[in-house]
Amino acid sequence: MHTELMRLPSRKEMVHHIITSFGRYWPKKGAVLSSLPIKECECAMTMCKPVLVSIDLPEWAANCGVGGALLIPSEACPGTGTPQWQEVDWWLAVFLLLEAWHERMWERAFGSVHSYSLRLKGWNGQIWDHAWANRIVLFLRRWSAHLHASPENELFGPLPEAEILMTHDVDAVEKTGAIRLKQSLFMGFNAFRAFFKGEWRRAGSNIKKMALFLSTGSSWWFFDEILALESAGAVRPCFNFSADDRPGTLKRLLFDPQYDLTEPRFIRLFEQLRARNALIGLHPTFDSWKSTELMEAQRLRLESACGVPVRISRQHWLRFAWESTLISLEKAGIELDTTLMFNDRPGFRASSALRWRPFNHESGKRYNIEILPSVLMDSHFYDYNPMTEKARRESISFWIREVESVRGQIALLWHPHTLSPDYGWKDGFMDVLACLGGEGSEKTLCT
Ligand SMILES: [Zn+2]
Repeated sequence: MHTELMRLPSRKEMVHHIITSFGRYWPKKGAVLSSLPIKECECAMTMCKPVLVSIDLPEWAANCGVGGALLIPSEACPGTGTPQWQEVDWWLAVFLLLEAWHERMWERAFGSVHSYSLRLKGWNGQIWDHAWANRIVLFLRRWSAHLHASPENELFGPLPEAEILMTHDVDAVEKTGAIRLKQSLFMGFNAFRAFFKGEWRRAGSNIKKMALFLSTGSSWWFFDEILALESAGAVRPCFNFSADDRPGTLKRLLFDPQYDLTEPRFIRLFEQLRARNALIGLHPTFDSWKSTELMEAQRLRLESACGVPVRISRQHWLRFAWESTLISLEKAGIELDTTLMFNDRPGFRASSALRWRPFNHESGKRYNIEILPSVLMDSHFYDYNPMTEKARRESISFWIREVESVRGQIALLWHPHTLSPDYGWKDGFMDVLACLGGEGSEKTLCT
């Protein structure tokens, strides 16, 4: 599969971009890394589907990898046979992974996947299973110290602690008529389908769910509970609010949050959030992903409702295109976005756990806006992949431990309304909180 070439930065720009972006790994002397004897690959970027190659690491750096090896895109190690670590163009490997270069090329060829990994047909999902870019860069740090025969911490300074931001997209605060209608139709349809497949039990369970959904109370206001749980765990949360005041259409009624930020309960909530030093972010609407105008109007509306500057965001439904969303958010006054994640699976969409200013392939410069990628959300463990309690706990722990082991930066997402009995996803939220405060973090890469 081939597509139009996207211009990579020059070698010097690429190395500078990586050393600057991962600056937190070397509080001192980051420039030392640029003298590593890394081969430069001449190969052109022509494939928009990455082919991954496993590279065994030398023994002194084995724990930078997974099972002693790192996965890299094949463009960074041209040639045949089993590539040795000394032959790899590590700068190119980090750049292609961190900047999701293949996904950008895919988008150019086929359009945005709007955050559904399944639309990246035929991709090897291992690319999202670990923070490979962080691991490679930590390997370069180790290699450099090895060459200088100097302890890593002495040469570069100590590694930082992992930074994990707990975020909540406020999609609904009560079961409105539209939500009742939408969900009961969905559940009724599932029951109907199960019935005709002869799956009586499943049909029955769907009907039960539907009856519960229609009969239970309408409030989905869980802010007090969330704040209490999080302050017990010393977590500083970020709440993202929708702030659209256009007249409702059927599409907006079905796809976008429907609440009024000028209601007294929201005014009280914003006071509460400000007093608790919680972050307040914007949750731009479904149709906003390439519109500076909509994003800016919504940002200003939220600012006037909550009384503090709003500079953080996450797109509703993770609607996102590399070509347009970042630049639109930047122009709309957003400084940090946490949209980068998939709807249909947990994972590291840019093979990294890092807050950074991405490279803009249109302008050849870095964006001003920063991305803090997200790695998991509630529905990954329920809707998209129902699992046992034990499996869910292990999976949540796996993703958080990966971030901790590379001393990375990441956001997590739990929607407040899923704490309701209608969803019953509070257990998963408690698992996340337990993991954040829990013992037993792997510090494998700490030296
Ligand atoms: Zn949303």
